[in-house]
Amino acid sequence: MTGSLIIAGLGPGSGVMVTPEVSDALAQASDVVGYIPYVTRVAERPGLTLHPSDNRVEIDRSRHALDMASHGRNVVVVSSGDPGVFAMASAVFEAVEAGPPEWRDLDIRVLPGITAMLAASARAGAPLGHDFCAINLSDNLKPWSVIEKRLRLAAEADFVMAFYNPRSRSRPDGFARTLDILKDACGDARPVIFARAVSTSEEEIRIVPLTECTPEMADMRTMVLVGSSTTRIIERDGLPIVYTPRSAKP
Ligand code: SAH
Repeated sequence: MTGSLIIAGLGPGSGVMVTPEVSDALAQASDVVGYIPYVTRVAERPGLTLHPSDNRVEIDRSRHALDMASHGRNVVVVSSGDPGVFAMASAVFEAVEAGPPEWRDLDIRVLPGITAMLAASARAGAPLGHDFCAINLSDNLKPWSVIEKRLRLAAEADFVMAFYNPRSRSRPDGFARTLDILKDACGDARPVIFARAVSTSEEEIRIVPLTECTPEMADMRTMVLVGSSTTRIIERDGLPIVYTPRSAKP
């Protein structure tokens, strides 16, 4: 009885951004496991069992998926965007490392997806054209002091910054503190992109100078991209183009 476990990324929302490789894996799955809103994106069909679960149970969900695969099922664990970016692939491998030795011999594969950072960047132009970093602003899994240190050092290194999980109801203050740190560390009017619900019917893109950013411009469905000192704006009718040139001058 050989089962398999695939950890697949569903992209940022639109069906056209799901890769053919992920669609094929879903077509062959016996079981799909994941956070409720992501499992909802998978079409029901005979022979497929959906296992939606709450967001806070990643390791339990991983063990459940591994256990089903070890009993011969073809399991797909779904994440939004890319499964390796602040998502389920790491949770599954944590469960493998801590779990029974036979889990290491399972057929486990990770199928990439379009991460929110790239979908948001494409809407604005090419803000990630030079060096950048990605930071998860949620302090659920790390202390705020670590986030603050990374923000300050990223500003000092003049990276473009991409923020996942900028703000939630349970953490209303973190993004306000983030903006204060950046205004202090960057000190000029570099552009900030707020890309909400990219590739869904609720998509909304705003481009705002850092000095004019306020915390309520972001929520949990928003990706925030902060330009570096070299990031440029091309004004035109409607939304401007934001891009970071390929070269940085010494
Ligand atoms: N694995 C996912 C990220 C999970 S963290 C990926 O690769 O995209 C969840 C965060 O991703 C959200 O808080 C938000 O910041 C961002 N995000 C996910 N989907 C998004 C979308 N369609 N538009 C904008 N941001 C999105």
